[in-house]
Amino acid sequence: MSSTTTDVPGSPERPGEPVADGGPPPGTAAGTAAGRARGLSPSRAADFLRCPLLYRFRTIDRLEEAPSPAAARGTLVHAVLERLFDLPAAERTPEAACGMVEERWRELLAGDERLGALFGDDEDGRAALQRWLAQARSLLRRYFDLEDPTRLEPAGREVRVEVPLEGGPVLRGVVDRLDVAPDGRLRVVDYKTGRAPSDRFAAAALFQIRFYALVLWRLRGVVPRSLRLVYLGSGEVLGHCPDEDDLRATEREVRAVWEAIERNRASGEWPATPGRLCSWCDHKALCPAFGGTPPPLPGGDVAQDPPRGA
Ligand code: SF4
Repeated sequence: MSSTTTDVPGSPERPGEPVADGGPPPGTAAGTAAGRARGLSPSRAADFLRCPLLYRFRTIDRLEEAPSPAAARGTLVHAVLERLFDLPAAERTPEAACGMVEERWRELLAGDERLGALFGDDEDGRAALQRWLAQARSLLRRYFDLEDPTRLEPAGREVRVEVPLEGGPVLRGVVDRLDVAPDGRLRVVDYKTGRAPSDRFAAAALFQIRFYALVLWRLRGVVPRSLRLVYLGSGEVLGHCPDEDDLRATEREVRAVWEAIERNRASGEWPATPGRLCSWCDHKALCPAFGGTPPPLPGGDVAQDPPRGA
């Protein structure tokens, strides 16, 4: 994949997307077993399916991860697309979107000082920043080839959704955009700054948005009519029209992932599964697959968090 358009697999792409699904930080009063409302988001489920040890590092150890230009660009593009719909419909143009880039970037910098370190303060750093901003503008221009925002009035943007699954985790996440037709039909839209997956990986890509459809179905009692993944990197749209059977199957998949997570949690075993994701992994130095040693599990995680029903 190109370094200019690739999303960082499993990383949050936007401000506010939960990284840790396990409730408050371990070691805090609220982070005791009793205080936790353990949850699962599509990103963390994807982490677990790719590499249980990565899930552990992100969700249980909650290790810091340095921001990357690719992830920060995703966050920036999402921020612009969110604000675009604040404008009157006729003013939602490519020029307007591109014109928002620098101000949104300054806002992101103000909210996370680590982002300032992505580009140096010398001439080379400033040139790299300008190239990076140009890439963000290019992705935004491509958005207009895929949708016409002058014809859309989203019912929600960056919508936090959360619902407890009976006998399972709290399902949570952030939906990029929710469209509601006058007759109540729901459309769930997710923006991706990377390229659309090949047919082989399309089902895995759709898992995230089917997960959101399941949450919305449980919350609102309405099966979303349409799910839409908008890939700005390659200028493609992946769509899906779910029905109740489809979402019941999604629920079974989510429960199976959660049960597997609980088994690992009970045993304290989080195997490393090296693969494509290792290229983006911030935790190689702690990974046995690369000669490292993981830190001790925080707060006696095994003892504090027996599997449900145990
Ligand atoms: S380096 Fe690879 S195998 Fe190790 S934790 Fe990261 S993703 Fe998993």
